[in-house]
Amino acid sequence: MGFLSNLFPNLGKRQTKGKTGYTTTDGPHGLWFYVQCDKCGEKIAVRLRTTSEVQRREGPDADLGPGQYFVQKTIVGSQCYQRIEAMVDFDAKYNVVDAIIDHGKLITYKDFTEKDEL
Ligand SMILES: [Zn+2]
Repeated sequence: MGFLSNLFPNLGKRQTKGKTGYTTTDGPHGLWFYVQCDKCGEKIAVRLRTTSEVQRREGPDADLGPGQYFVQKTIVGSQCYQRIEAMVDFDAKYNVVDAIIDHGKLITYKDFTEKDEL
């Protein structure tokens, strides 16, 4: 049982709301999320097809994360060969509920589009 489950023992999966700003949609079946590489700082846009890559949390996967949908994806940017392993949970509207990113971090669309200032 996780920290949030202890705080909200009656909070069901259906009520779990995601944070807006981390995903954008692209047509009826396209979904983007954004990560930044830990190694080189590259910002990477990741496109998903909601019809094939995004999976519903049900059956044996239902208790493994807080979302209604999730995706597991290995991302490699163009600036280095670091493999970024992403597990992202989404709510029913494909907002991000939780994300576990190895070798990188989840960033918002705003972060992605902002220019780095030195
Ligand atoms: Zn990199």
